[in-house]
Amino acid sequence: MEDCIFCKIAAGVIPSNKVFENNTILAFHDIHPLAPTHILVIPKKHYTNLETLDATDQSLLGHLLHVTNLVAKQENIAKDGYRVVINCGSWGGQVVHHLHIHLLGGRKLADTLG
Ligand code: 5GP
Ligand code: ZN
Repeated sequence: MEDCIFCKIAAGVIPSNKVFENNTILAFHDIHPLAPTHILVIPKKHYTNLETLDATDQSLLGHLLHVTNLVAKQENIAKDGYRVVINCGSWGGQVVHHLHIHLLGGRKLADTLG
């Protein structure tokens, strides 16, 4: 297994508060939530970030976004609206180097993206 915290969460070695799981994707609550609902959606397989993906990964990306929307509905934040963020690389603010989507909602979010 990669020495990666999200690989360990995907493998169940490190516990997480899961909200969705299928064969390829896992969604769980962020440990330091920035909004009333702050969920991370990850592929179970290790990909470092968006920049490392190529054309063969397009279906995975579509699947991740589809699941993100499903989770937003499941968590009752979809109607009021939500934000999806993917940090990529150091200038993008990526700290955990395993591809993940932040799903944020449950309050009116700031107008700025930084
Ligand atoms: P990044 O800045 O890489 O886009 O975001 C990484 C996110 O992972 C942060 O919001 C951080 O709070 C979250 N995180 C880091 N370690 C853990 C962990 O062990 N468990 C959970 N649930 N979230 C984590
Ligand atoms: Zn990983």
